[in-house]
Amino acid sequence: MRGARVGIFGGTFNPIHFGHLRAAEEVTEALDLQRMIFVPSAQPPHKRSSDEDPIAPAAERLAWVRAALRDHARFEVDAIEVERGGSSYSVDTLRVLRSRAGGEPPVFTIGHDAFVEVGTWREPAALFELAHFAVIARPPTPAGTLEDWIPKCVRDHLDLAPDGLSGRHRRAGTWIRLLEIRALDVSASDIRARLRDGRSVRYLLPKVVIDAVQQSGVYARG
Ligand code: ATP
Repeated sequence: MRGARVGIFGGTFNPIHFGHLRAAEEVTEALDLQRMIFVPSAQPPHKRSSDEDPIAPAAERLAWVRAALRDHARFEVDAIEVERGGSSYSVDTLRVLRSRAGGEPPVFTIGHDAFVEVGTWREPAALFELAHFAVIARPPTPAGTLEDWIPKCVRDHLDLAPDGLSGRHRRAGTWIRLLEIRALDVSASDIRARLRDGRSVRYLLPKVVIDAVQQSGVYARG
């Protein structure tokens, strides 16, 4: 499982918070990645924006991610999905970012809550051939193992380790790993709810992001 140098961390980042940042830090350290590239989506296919609980405009979410990563030497942001616009499909993004990395599979970093849905994403089988997967458990601690969560169309192509914590794609040579990290119990939906109610979000996300979010007024009630 050596050799992979570039991580990709996709998300809505509505808004980015310390749960995302801490998870990316732990994965970068555990896998000794040279770079972790955050990729904010334009329109996430699986999330709906509503008047009560809006998805902030992509340009704003991108700017907040950029501000949050500013001081980190290994963290970067890529605007590829925001610039492409429309529904953001990870398979399209991975094809481009992998070829930009000279064909080296990147490490697609994903929380288990999102990973359990991967079977419903566009071209799930291709995703597992294009990239390694680092699956991180976020609170509450999940019941189950990789074996339970891997999409059926992919399962037959993988050799899973007896402990269920890792696997290898027989044909593509890509790997998948369940990474035990000390995840923080912070979620963007909880932050948005607090902002709607006028409650404090201090210490849940970087101050620079709090200030920009409050200035935008995007999550304020009414
Ligand atoms: P929401 O609460 O609005 O659903 P979210 O906090 O889950 O948002 P996303 O932008 O949808 O944030 O998540 C992007 C990625 O980050 C996903 O793979 C998700 O599993 C992961 N993630 C989000 N919060 C955490 C956390 N606290 N710890 C570890 N991973 C996280």
